[in-house]
Amino acid sequence: MKASINGKEYSFEEGESILHVARRNGIFIPSLCRFEPLRHKPATCRVCLTEVTDALGTRIVTACDTPMTEGMQVDTFSRHVRDMQRMQVEMIFADHDQECVSCARHGDCELQDLGEAVGLVRNRFTHRLRPAAGERPVDDSATGMTRDMTKCIRCLRCVEVCRQIQGVAALTVDGKGLEACIGVGMSADHRSSACIQCGQCTLVCPTGALAERDQNDTVLDYLADPELITVFSFAPSVRVLLGEEFGFTPGVNVEGKIVAALRRIGADVVLDTDFAADVVIMEEGTELLEKIRSGARLPMFTSCCPGWVNYAEKHCPAILPYVSSTRSPQGVLGALCKTYLPKVMDLDTTRIRTISIMPCIAKKDEAARPELAQYGVPDVDVVITVREFARLLRRMGVDLASIEPEPFDNPFMSASTGAAVIFGSTGGVMEAAVRTVYAVLNGKEMERIESEPLRGMEGVREADVDLGEGNGSIKVAICHGLRNARILAEQALRGESPYTFIEVMACPGGCVDGGGTSRIKRDYHPGAYLRQQALYALDRSMPRRQSHNNPQVKKLYADFLGAPNSEKAHHLLHTGYADRSAQPSESIQANKRRLTLTDE
Ligand code: SF4
Ligand code: SF4
Ligand code: SF4
Repeated sequence: MKASINGKEYSFEEGESILHVARRNGIFIPSLCRFEPLRHKPATCRVCLTEVTDALGTRIVTACDTPMTEGMQVDTFSRHVRDMQRMQVEMIFADHDQECVSCARHGDCELQDLGEAVGLVRNRFTHRLRPAAGERPVDDSATGMTRDMTKCIRCLRCVEVCRQIQGVAALTVDGKGLEACIGVGMSADHRSSACIQCGQCTLVCPTGALAERDQNDTVLDYLADPELITVFSFAPSVRVLLGEEFGFTPGVNVEGKIVAALRRIGADVVLDTDFAADVVIMEEGTELLEKIRSGARLPMFTSCCPGWVNYAEKHCPAILPYVSSTRSPQGVLGALCKTYLPKVMDLDTTRIRTISIMPCIAKKDEAARPELAQYGVPDVDVVITVREFARLLRRMGVDLASIEPEPFDNPFMSASTGAAVIFGSTGGVMEAAVRTVYAVLNGKEMERIESEPLRGMEGVREADVDLGEGNGSIKVAICHGLRNARILAEQALRGESPYTFIEVMACPGGCVDGGGTSRIKRDYHPGAYLRQQALYALDRSMPRRQSHNNPQVKKLYADFLGAPNSEKAHHLLHTGYADRSAQPSESIQANKRRLTLTDE
């Protein structure tokens, strides 16, 4: 079938929309709500206006939901079309809080881009429709993120990600017409809602309506206080993520630049969360072996992802006895920073402030858990995401691109292994655990360190792991995205799980695509493969690739903890969980009823 766009003829398939045919042929039509990565087409923004002439005459239509028909003539940028598109964008801006300078999406806003795309130079309607204070919720009750509905333009991308990708369905559309905005079901506020703070919705929100809670001012307060000792650390994936914020291609390793940048802004101590990931493997691996030997209930689920832990507590509490009690690497490092570090560096514990740089929004929530505190003092004082850290560096005039890399210089808690660095990708925790469990059982290393079946991006993967002569083999599974986690959890609860050990990461792809990573406008996880491969390349380049071979981890156990899962290790490095499914009440109960995991 054939039709013309701007006077030139194009072929199309029956049912294709004007917008689809135009995009397929490289013709630009401004649009905001249409989001290809989710095949999401709500047709709510009404910006993709075009003029069509066909048997019905000449008229203005929205290109995203108007099918192309044989012989149709489409005009995408006549004066009339441009005026209509611009007026629609003026209306959206008028219905939107325009405090751009204080917005979390400042300098990175798709709505501002749209203004430029339609040539908006003066808005005739500003302040006519703008939501008055109190008309739409501005909710900062959640520990990790904010929900400012005065900035919502009702594209519904967030609702779709939360429902389609995560299977959480925490977000709802509340109200009608101009009052419509995104709500949290029947919950009183965001904190008590079904949301598990994975932050995936913040990656697709085109404006600042859903965003991470910015805690940079707390970090700056710490840095400015001469009495305090600031201890920074950054997660495995951060070294291959932060560069994107400063113009590097996805996956470039900027570890040394981060260390140098932290020193430049005044950090007193710079540690590597990778060290703690190695400790997690020692604890979790030992816990798994003890469960296998004692005939405890299996499978054991990993616990290093707080998004998954929140999900288990709120949406599937029956699975909690199956979840490892080992803290996440952040939780382990925080505890050691407030106990072991003061000993080895002769520091006053009360003056230490620990600051984590994470790809994750749920880690902010994790740090606020009362279980991760000693005598009311949090083990991790502040968590900032990759996006916040990039903003912090810009605020302090540090350009990562031009700074020279520096090595970690602290002799304690900064050595790491290849096993730790792959924690940042889906499958990485499992692969790291297998390397150590095998060595513990056999007294020698695996012949093939890398395990292809454990790698990849499929939502659920499984593998048979040979534990060496006389030890048999175990079946393990890896999943990412909570919709997949739910399926494996329900299987375990029915007593039908063939697995001994299951790794869960809440974010699709794992932490390399965490809710606190760089937002890529109009796309969803485009750099996942490159980021993941960068971590595997780093693993291959490391002199030590197994957690149990980390010399600083050996020293930690010899000098301080005794042995993995010792009483002291258990006290400091393990945690407990609580059934929180009743707390957010209606929303979660409603979700439990309506969530059908077999659809799609
Ligand atoms: S943070 Fe995650 S669970 Fe919460 S609303 Fe966003 S996508 Fe849903
Ligand atoms: S909160 Fe953001 S993603 Fe959700 S509908 Fe509003 S603008 Fe769109
Ligand atoms: S997968 Fe990583 S980034 Fe996502 S919630 Fe879990 S720990 Fe955080």
